Amino acid sequence: MKRLGNYINGKQVTSESRNVGQVFDPATGEPSLEVVLSTAEETETAITAAEQALPAWSATTPLNRARIMFRFKALLEQNLDHLARLITQEHGKVLSDARGELTRGIEVVEFACGIPHLLKGEHSLNVGRGVDSFSLMQPVGVCAGISPFNFPAMVPLWMFPIALACGNTFVMKPSEKDPSVLMEIARLLSEAGLPDGVFNVINGNKESVDTLLHDPRVQAVSFVGSTPIAEYIYKTGCANGKRVQALGGAKNHMLVMPDAQPEQAVSALMGAAYGSAGERCMAISVAVCVGDQTADALIKAIKSEIASMRVGPGLGADEEPDMGPLISKEHAQKVRAYIDSGVEEGASLLVDGRTFTVEQHEKGYFVGPTLFDDVKPGMRIYQEEIFGPVLSVVRVETYQEAVDLINAHEYGNGTSIFTQNGESARQFCEHIQVGMVGVNIPIPVPMAFHSFGGWKRSVFGPLNMHGNDGVRFYTKMKTVTARWPKGGLVSSSFSMPTMK
Ligand code: NAD
Repeated sequence: MKRLGNYINGKQVTSESRNVGQVFDPATGEPSLEVVLSTAEETETAITAAEQALPAWSATTPLNRARIMFRFKALLEQNLDHLARLITQEHGKVLSDARGELTRGIEVVEFACGIPHLLKGEHSLNVGRGVDSFSLMQPVGVCAGISPFNFPAMVPLWMFPIALACGNTFVMKPSEKDPSVLMEIARLLSEAGLPDGVFNVINGNKESVDTLLHDPRVQAVSFVGSTPIAEYIYKTGCANGKRVQALGGAKNHMLVMPDAQPEQAVSALMGAAYGSAGERCMAISVAVCVGDQTADALIKAIKSEIASMRVGPGLGADEEPDMGPLISKEHAQKVRAYIDSGVEEGASLLVDGRTFTVEQHEKGYFVGPTLFDDVKPGMRIYQEEIFGPVLSVVRVETYQEAVDLINAHEYGNGTSIFTQNGESARQFCEHIQVGMVGVNIPIPVPMAFHSFGGWKRSVFGPLNMHGNDGVRFYTKMKTVTARWPKGGLVSSSFSMPTMK
């Protein structure tokens, strides 16, 4: 079986590690690839490559770095189909969804193409008489990225294009569950003209991550994944003196008001709850309906939509399914166990996906679309992130009850309101304790030129991914205050300087 190694100093390298991970095709349950789980020494080799490449790369002009990003963007577009297939083979999401993920990632590369403009900094003329002040936005150094399985291309692309464009070098540790697409992307970066060692990929698990967190040469760590690991990364990275941005898990609510446009709300909810089999950090997993009439109508429509949903392998079918399998056998079992717990805790199971199978793919990791009604805040299916195709309906009587419920949840990644009333929508945007908010938009993922990140236990660290926050995260700001004397010496002053 093919074994995937690492990408260090501009080429694929094998590994001495005796530990390997197994990559599966989730649609068939068959193993497809082995991936090395690198040792600490191998991870250090990748850091050394990045360290050695740093002086020359950080000395290139932003304009030249942007030109490499332009070529990289073109190569990603030319290879889009190939890359999307790799994602579907290892992750399981349907092909159009894999293409969508790549498109959202390419948009960050487009943003990074504007780096000469983004690094201009600030300038104030005459902060005092004859004194100017300006900022220099300088690279932080060697940066590391650690990414989850559910967006094997898009999440790394949130990180390294901006880091590289800012003049940093990078070591990326992708998820060991679907690592192939990033190796291809690394190859395309080299083809675009990126010097060797500037971008490196280390495949591995906790040992590699811990090496990145403890090595003093790594200055900044970007992480996306589950909340317990995000918190660990944040605390450990900060304790080792690094700047850290760590994005965690989610439980996203969609508030459906009685005046919501019904067809719009139902079609939005279907895609947001069941798209990518619910394995999105911005998936809607809770529909909060104001009033029983709203809930009854919504449930009736959702049940009928589920009945016509196509579930199957993401590749190969003549007509693309709406939803593919989950990432692994263990994860599918975990999702089924959550459905069991919902039943045990008294929620009404209206559509049960636990025994769902796909003909000729009986060993695939499929769980069918599942719908619960009468879900209450104390239940595990309400409290915890399931990360599967399970939608819970919570009934409330008033708008304020819905807002209080959402605000009380420990996660605050994304949310949305469906209404035709501008005042409710406006109030919602102002008072909801969540980082990304949609108004009649179910998955409000900010564009590359805005920043992505949640609130509460969905994020650790003050700066979000991409947009201006991304540039701030990957640069150190230096502020210069300068005076050029017009002849004659300025006499010394021994009191605190103030501008005249
Ligand atoms: P995960 O936390 O299990 O793994 C993420 C990364 O951390 C992987 O690269 C993995 O190898 C590494 N890792 C795992 N255990 C570790 C440990 N003990 N020590 C050090 N490193 C470790 O997450 P996942 O299952 O791959 O991804 C799904 C999770 O990611 C969900 O919770 C989802 O909500 C979250 N996610 C969040 C966002 C966001 O923007 N907030 C985006 C995508 C996914």
